[in-house]
Amino acid sequence: MTADSHQAPPAENRRAHKTGAQLADGREIIFFDDEPRSRTVQDRREITRPEGGNEMRYDPLLREWVAIAAARQHRTHLPSTDQCPLCPSTADRDTEVPQASYDVVVFENRFPSFRGDVPVPADFLSTTTAAAESAGLLQPGSGRCEVVCFTDEHTSQLAQVSAARMRTVVDAWADRSAAMLAEPGVEQVYCFENRGEEIGVTLHHPHGQIYGYPFITPRTRTLLESAADYRERRDGDLFADILASEISDGRRIVARTEHWTAFIPAWARWPVELHIYPNRAVERLPELTSAERDDFAALYLDLLGRGDQLFDGPLPYISGWQQAPASAEPGLMRLHLQLFSIRRAENKLKFLAGSESGMGVFINDIAPEEMARRLVELGPVSGEDTGTESQDSGSQTAGSPNAGSQTGETR
Ligand SMILES: [Zn+2]
Repeated sequence: MTADSHQAPPAENRRAHKTGAQLADGREIIFFDDEPRSRTVQDRREITRPEGGNEMRYDPLLREWVAIAAARQHRTHLPSTDQCPLCPSTADRDTEVPQASYDVVVFENRFPSFRGDVPVPADFLSTTTAAAESAGLLQPGSGRCEVVCFTDEHTSQLAQVSAARMRTVVDAWADRSAAMLAEPGVEQVYCFENRGEEIGVTLHHPHGQIYGYPFITPRTRTLLESAADYRERRDGDLFADILASEISDGRRIVARTEHWTAFIPAWARWPVELHIYPNRAVERLPELTSAERDDFAALYLDLLGRGDQLFDGPLPYISGWQQAPASAEPGLMRLHLQLFSIRRAENKLKFLAGSESGMGVFINDIAPEEMARRLVELGPVSGEDTGTESQDSGSQTAGSPNAGSQTGETR
């Protein structure tokens, strides 16, 4: 892709149009519009923010934090459509979004799992006593939780939005990642979506969440340790080598585009587990170029569409971005998206039972190669077999082991 850098500066710097405001209880709300438009935001409700209820406790056995968020017990659970708090407000009903319509909107969660601006000190273990450590160390709740609504259409799905809207969602994720990472009390930002009642979704309206954790999460900590160890032993970039290995093997590549590669890793734990890597070494969402964002938007919609065709009905999934924490050593982490589903057959769900929940050892009933083959066969949903989308570059489908063998620019 070549961008003409003459008269049109927007091409590379193009971003969704942003409007920030405050809800009646002081929470922040930010609108991201596909096209520039002016908004006047006034929340007419008389609400206050519940105080307290957020706490963190340290598990000295696993060396992990657990958030205690008692207020969440009282949050709205699967309300009927006319009671949805994420729909636009109307003359008769005030929701969380004081506008008659919106494209994408982000606001602070009224019932956050993490809240507060007191960071967890990196040396918290060395500055405490053995008695406090073994007792589960209390820490005031910290961090920040936001809700992202992908569309104002209650009955829609992320898989059904336009490529332009998906791009706005990517811009919102990137914008919020940068903003939250700059806040005191936030160490790592996780943009994710839980989809489907099978996953435990409490609101049907198409939405995701953004968590600003006040510490490095256990999964990311392990990823960083693995990457550091790999670099030490092999003088290589673990993420780049994983991507190169998958491309070279080809059997688990689901789609490749100019800027992204989607595959099921050889060690997939879940029946459906897609990893989407940028072809370029990028650590966090805000670093993505406009071309990379557009390309991802088209690819992601394609993949979500295929996922929904795998079984009877929409695929329940959890999808989230792994990105570098604030204090991570530069160059160690590679941004990537991980999407996984607990559905393993038409009427069967994968439950985390004894081995998975009790010991952390996963047993996957479906070979990753087989699931990749099924996803490849479903092909780009909207582009027939030409792979040519009306917008952006469309995604190439890896139909055979060789199809994925083109050299990836991994570094
Ligand atoms: Zn709704």
